[in-house]
Amino acid sequence: MKNRLFFILTTLLLCIVALIYLQRDEIQTVYHKFFVSKIFERQSKNVEHQGESKIKIAFLDIGQGDASLLEWPDGTQMLVDCAIDDRILEALGRVMSPFDHTIDYLVVSHPDLDHYGGCVDVMKRFEVKYIVYTGYKKNTSQYFPVFLQTIQDEVKNGAEYIEIDHEQTWNINSSTLHFLYPDLPISTHPLLSKVKKTDASNNTSILMILQYGEKKIMFTGDTEFEEENYLMSKYSTSTLDVDLLKVGHHGSAGSSSDAFLKILSPEYATISSGKENRYGHPTLRTLHRLERANTQIWRSDQKGDILVYVYADKIHIENH
Ligand SMILES: [Zn+2]
Repeated sequence: MKNRLFFILTTLLLCIVALIYLQRDEIQTVYHKFFVSKIFERQSKNVEHQGESKIKIAFLDIGQGDASLLEWPDGTQMLVDCAIDDRILEALGRVMSPFDHTIDYLVVSHPDLDHYGGCVDVMKRFEVKYIVYTGYKKNTSQYFPVFLQTIQDEVKNGAEYIEIDHEQTWNINSSTLHFLYPDLPISTHPLLSKVKKTDASNNTSILMILQYGEKKIMFTGDTEFEEENYLMSKYSTSTLDVDLLKVGHHGSAGSSSDAFLKILSPEYATISSGKENRYGHPTLRTLHRLERANTQIWRSDQKGDILVYVYADKIHIENH
């Protein structure tokens, strides 16, 4: 009798193991759906296109600064900038599953605290696979060496460091990510010698365009007129033509020139700025320029987290 029971239980166990093995892809998908890929799916009011493949972007409301989380259809995630401090962790908690402890790509646009300040917290809290940066060394910030040291520690623990020092295009899950700037090593870039300010780091900002199907999204960091002019002199209008612009430098008056906006002709613009911030961002001048360019404006200081769904042929935007 005991032997019989043992035989039945062993057979049952083998069947379960075989079933799990055969259904492993499906199980993984279900696991992914419920525990990993929940990025702002629950909150989506966009029922019309729910089944369609899309890239999700959360322009996070983190006060004065930048932080955008991207998620591709296969679950690949990229964080572009990390806010000024550990408030980034709370913001990521609003859109990520608590079971999700990895971020595939961390892109740090440039070394201003309101963009890299929270990156140390992100690298400590999450397993980051690729750290993407220009390599620009900022000597005027006390915190910057901590940031560099954390990158080195992460690399020792298996992360890969990628320096953007030439124009390049990556393919990620049926989309392309085109890095337009820095197109040369930033330490010797000719543009920086022309920038008259002592702190030129805004114009070291990584500028990249994500293209999914027909739709293009531009990420700018704190790009100012100098970098915009450089881009317009180097790239064709069709390259720079986008559907959504993450407005440079939080809508400061020294970014988003009329000429630049005319070439970009974005249908939508998102502005990441803190409520009643002391810089007066976004400025009226920039808002007027965007209005003249017939661009629909979404501001994090007014809307909170801005959630963008990029389909191959359309863009849907909503807020929390
Ligand atoms: Zn900034």
